[in-house]
Order: sequence, then C-alpha cells, then structure tokens
Amino acid sequence: MHEKHFPLHDAFRGHTIVHHQLYHWNGKFEATGPGRPPHVALRWYAFPSMIAFHTPFFWLIQHFLIPYSFWGALAACVTYFTGYEYTHYLMHVPKGHYVERFKWFRFIKEHHRLHHKYYLRNMNVFIPLADYHLGTLITSEGWRSKALIHKQNLEKKDKAKETTPANSEG
Ligand SMILES: [Zn+2]
Ligand SMILES: [Zn+2]
Repeated sequence: MHEKHFPLHDAFRGHTIVHHQLYHWNGKFEATGPGRPPHVALRWYAFPSMIAFHTPFFWLIQHFLIPYSFWGALAACVTYFTGYEYTHYLMHVPKGHYVERFKWFRFIKEHHRLHHKYYLRNMNVFIPLADYHLGTLITSEGWRSKALIHKQNLEKKDKAKETTPANSEG
C-alpha cells in the first residue's frame, strides 16, 4: 500500500495518495461532515485477496514446517484483518463504540495518526507487533518518540561540540 512500484498500483493510489491526504495527521485525521466518509474502508476485494494470497503460504508452512498450523494461521489472518478494518474505521470515524474508551484503542489510534505523518513508520494498525520487531515503531512521546529521539540527537551533537574544541577557529 505504500510502495509505488508494487504491481497493485490501485492499492498505492487508494491508500497513500487518497487516504493519507484525505485524513491528514494534523487536524483532519477524523472524518467530518455528513454521510459515509469516503476511502476509509478498503475495497471489497481486499479481504478475499488477502486470504487467497496467504492461504498457499499457510499450507506450505503446515506441510513442511509446523504441523496442524493451517487453521490457526487462517483464523489469525481473518481476526487481524477484521480487527484492522473495524478499528481503523473507528479511528477515522468515531462512533462512540465501547472499544473507543479503551486505553489500547487510544494507543493504536495515536499510533496510526503518526503513521499518517510518517508513512513508512507504524505500518501495523491493529496489533503493532511487527512494528516493534522490525524497528518501525514510533510513539508520540516518551519511549520511541521520533520527536524526542531527534531532540536527544541534537543535544548529543551540541555536547560533542562543547567537549571537542572547534577546529575551525584560528
Ligand atoms: Zn488511516
Ligand atoms: Zn498508510
């Protein structure tokens, strides 16, 4: 969805060009106005394609690596995708559902808001485990905050300047 040269250009256009622009991280992250907000849910064929794409891999994994894993893997895939569509929709279109009160929902909503700012970070939506393991996780404050890391790097640079006498002088 974020790769311009990915064969499914429609996924890139619909997500990175349209969705990211329409629901900007700053100010208009949530949909306003009456009617069904456009370009929040994925296209109808996204879900069946996702399942169809993963199924052969699950089968191969069961056959060669992990016996009896096929149905569990498929259930995980369906759960993630359903959770993704549901929570992503609520992030952009608040409905006052019970889950919106949960702390973890507020966390993943902020996590996704940052994704709309830094589109190659926080690529997970529902469960940010892969972001954590692949090093693409950022948070708005504290731990893994991009702004904070940037500030710390600047401070380090300043300190390095203070401790080593400037060579350029004289
Ligand atoms: Zn979004
Ligand atoms: Zn995105």
